[in-house]
Amino acid sequence: MAIHGYFHAFLDLFYSRSCLHCNRNLNSSYALYLCEDCIKGISYVSTDHCIRCGAALGPHSISTVKEGCIKCKGRRLSFTTTTSVTYYEGAMKTLIHKFKYSRQKFLFHTLNEILLARDKVQAIVPNIDVVVPVPLHWTKKMRRGFNQSELLAWGMQHNFSKPVSTNNLCRIKNTTSQTQLSKKQRQANIRDAFRVNDPKSFQEKRILLVDDVLTTGVTAAECAKKLKQSGAQSVHLLILATAKDPG
Ligand SMILES: [Zn+2]
Ligand SMILES: [Zn+2]
Repeated sequence: MAIHGYFHAFLDLFYSRSCLHCNRNLNSSYALYLCEDCIKGISYVSTDHCIRCGAALGPHSISTVKEGCIKCKGRRLSFTTTTSVTYYEGAMKTLIHKFKYSRQKFLFHTLNEILLARDKVQAIVPNIDVVVPVPLHWTKKMRRGFNQSELLAWGMQHNFSKPVSTNNLCRIKNTTSQTQLSKKQRQANIRDAFRVNDPKSFQEKRILLVDDVLTTGVTAAECAKKLKQSGAQSVHLLILATAKDPG
């Protein structure tokens, strides 16, 4: 039995094994916390999205890394590519909610499996130099007990042997909840919320910026801006779950 097998056996003492989304009983040898049907029901972001900004493309639109798509052409973006894995809905929403807000830290294992199983993730990670999770303000991290994006970044390190940088890009402003704000208000709210302590160590680096959920993208964009200002060669955004209609 692998280490994580023991880990799950241990958890079974405390948690009844049922699917977190539909409550169906799960076989105790089953390592994930969603049933097979709910796993199959996860909606993945298809390839018809702009490689640069991540927006959905129409049937005849094209996008290139250099020029982007019709929506981002000519716009200055700090990230070079955007890779979104799933949509933030259904079982994924349940899973991420329990992970973050009910602090069920062990769920990162299931989320990592979902992330790492995708070909586009397998394709992008080998070409980067360092993985940087979107940081939380330290008070928030202390309250939650962990940074969810950091756990996903450690999964990248474990699977691809890529270094993870967790202390260089820091969140210095503890913004209030952004959910009720318009995009413009969010942008103002997030401005200068991040700082890079040692820009030199990001110089000329191809950085994978990892976040769990993308809604308007203003947080990721602000992080990417700081990374580029530090001299990063490129910033590749990797998102576990993206809202279907980013405002
Ligand atoms: Zn289920
Ligand atoms: Zn685009």
